[in-house]
Amino acid sequence: MPKLPKAELNKHRNHLLALLQRLGMKIEHMEDSVLRGDSETSADEVDEFGSDSYHQEFQVGLIENEDEIRQQVTEALQRVADGSFGSCDACDDPIPARRLDALPYARYCVGCQEKSESGDLSED
Ligand SMILES: [Zn+2]
Repeated sequence: MPKLPKAELNKHRNHLLALLQRLGMKIEHMEDSVLRGDSETSADEVDEFGSDSYHQEFQVGLIENEDEIRQQVTEALQRVADGSFGSCDACDDPIPARRLDALPYARYCVGCQEKSESGDLSED
């Protein structure tokens, strides 16, 4: 299977690096605000509805989300380095360029992504 042209690969790599940097800053900022929240309210000051801790859990959830994406971006950069970038991790089919433009850290082609989300994908 023909590999991605070098120019394409570079484009996606730059896109991924920019994304990684942006995510890093965003996560740092979010972690900062959670930590600040921590020092202002101790656990036993939270009211019975737990609104503060709810807010904090919500924030932590967001950070985990961003962190997960950051992980995927990092893995995509590794695939750029080892030459497997641009093919589906499950069936090895090329991932369409349009999909990579929209989601440069996509691991799967559209079909396998759907299977992965419905739990039908078996990885070995
Ligand atoms: Zn696939």
